[in-house]
Amino acid sequence: MPGGSPQTLRPFLWRAEQLYPDTEVVSRTHEGITRYDYGTYADRVAQLANALDDAGYGDGERLGTFCWNHHRHFETYFGIPGMGAQLHTINPLLPDKHVQYIVENAEDETIFVDQSFLPKLEGAVADDPDPFDSVERFVVMGESVPETDLDAVAYDSFIDGHSTTYDWPELEEERPAGLCYTSGTTGRPKGVEYTQQMLWSHTMALQTPQGLPLAEDDVVMPVVPMFHVNAWGLPFSATAGGAKHVYPGPQPEPADLAHLIESEGVTITAGVPTVWLGLMDYVKENDVDLSTLDRLVVGGSAAPEAMIRFFDDHGVELVHAWGMTETAPVGAVSHLKHDLEDADYETQLEKRSKQGLIVPGLEFEVVDDEGEAVPHDGEAYGELLIRGPWVTTEYFARPEATEQEFENGYLKTGDVVSVDEDGYIKIVDRSKDVIKSGGEWISSQELENELMAHESVSEAAVIGVPHERWQERPLALVVPAEDADTDSLAGELREHVLDSYPKWWVPDSVVTIDEVPKTATGKFDKQTLREEYGDKSMVEGRVPEDAAPE
Ligand code: ADP
Repeated sequence: MPGGSPQTLRPFLWRAEQLYPDTEVVSRTHEGITRYDYGTYADRVAQLANALDDAGYGDGERLGTFCWNHHRHFETYFGIPGMGAQLHTINPLLPDKHVQYIVENAEDETIFVDQSFLPKLEGAVADDPDPFDSVERFVVMGESVPETDLDAVAYDSFIDGHSTTYDWPELEEERPAGLCYTSGTTGRPKGVEYTQQMLWSHTMALQTPQGLPLAEDDVVMPVVPMFHVNAWGLPFSATAGGAKHVYPGPQPEPADLAHLIESEGVTITAGVPTVWLGLMDYVKENDVDLSTLDRLVVGGSAAPEAMIRFFDDHGVELVHAWGMTETAPVGAVSHLKHDLEDADYETQLEKRSKQGLIVPGLEFEVVDDEGEAVPHDGEAYGELLIRGPWVTTEYFARPEATEQEFENGYLKTGDVVSVDEDGYIKIVDRSKDVIKSGGEWISSQELENELMAHESVSEAAVIGVPHERWQERPLALVVPAEDADTDSLAGELREHVLDSYPKWWVPDSVVTIDEVPKTATGKFDKQTLREEYGDKSMVEGRVPEDAAPE
């Protein structure tokens, strides 16, 4: 290794401790607000490492977490991988059967669990104890353990009394440091391992101007959960940059987020669009001071254009990013290229609405069904293939990669994209959500955005339903805005879609619903919608003759 030291997470914490010992970590938990500095953080991380050492870990054992975003969870982010074990973040919002499958597949030896998720975990264990055979102990995040059937200790007593210094081992960069399962929107959850080197290189890429750079004068509030893909890597990159951390804790409501932004002076925050839709509504009805907020990062699902405009109007730059569990996760960020800085607002908006430019260090290809590269003209589309130092080439505990998933070192993302002349990647749809109508494709995602841009619509999901003649037709499931006239809504939406799209894109039916069901990562749960509304009889006979692809 000519470089002198391996690419691991440890130097990021070392630097923060050396340079910014007084910078704060702020955390909202069931105990209220906790506030300490990097100095204390580093002490507690060392105590955790010592406690884990005493428990006999340090050789790649997988230790699970089942927690919201808070300081104790953050302590596991450096403590577990730093001492040589593997941080396995488990999504507590998944159905019990997925949690059971994940723990059994990962063979977790300890599970750190939030007090609020304890009943859920107890339930999963009671329902089927076998998958939890590997678990030696449960550690409840807090000062004490509430009454529970599980054999549990409190986190604070687990680390108390241990030394605040730890002799960190020199780890090889191939050592698995993290593990996260895809949330099963594509079937059974699949485990993705992150080595020390993958997390190091992802952090360094985020820290470039083309990523989501964080510096010592930033106050970072990751709303994106730490239980899914390491909160997009922000806890690591915020530490690398020496920024102040703000963790919004259990089930943060828009009011909690607004309060933390104001009281802690948050400069950058990140989350899925549903979180920001909630904040938008809150800001419309309340007096919220967003003046410290420079950047708001949106990813996981497409950022509606209306959302970008809204935050622009409030002086907050909305940064659109794309990624997946398999890419650790950040792969593309929608920055304006230098020569677009003088372009008119609408042109800029069109670019910024796309999922972005590939971040430095990665490579991609877009190929059609025959595997041929498609032109980068903003029109042609195909599947996005991606590779790079932090993109996985396999799934955990699976005998071998399949050709549907990987090819020549590239991950087949399952995302259908176009790329324009400037290199901006636009997700047209997830391949399984694309509606194939009369041999043509309709992007469910684009239709959703169009519908959500209408003032009478609060949320909209579009699914394809089988049709005898056209194979599939779009069905829109719409949550009306509060003062919408539901009687005229379907007609209005038809006109609205027709303004920008051909007739055959117009959904055959518009069904109003109270709420769009969400997956455990806050995305529209199209699987559930398909199960409920995907019945053929929903649309048969309702397609106007002239609504066919020409
Ligand atoms: P899962 O939903 O199965 O857990 P991930 O959380 O890894 O999977 O989500 C990855 C997928 O989310 C991507 O493949 C893509 O379809 C979608 N996605 C991520 N970011 C965006 C974005 N900015 N716009 C549209 N879709 C996105």
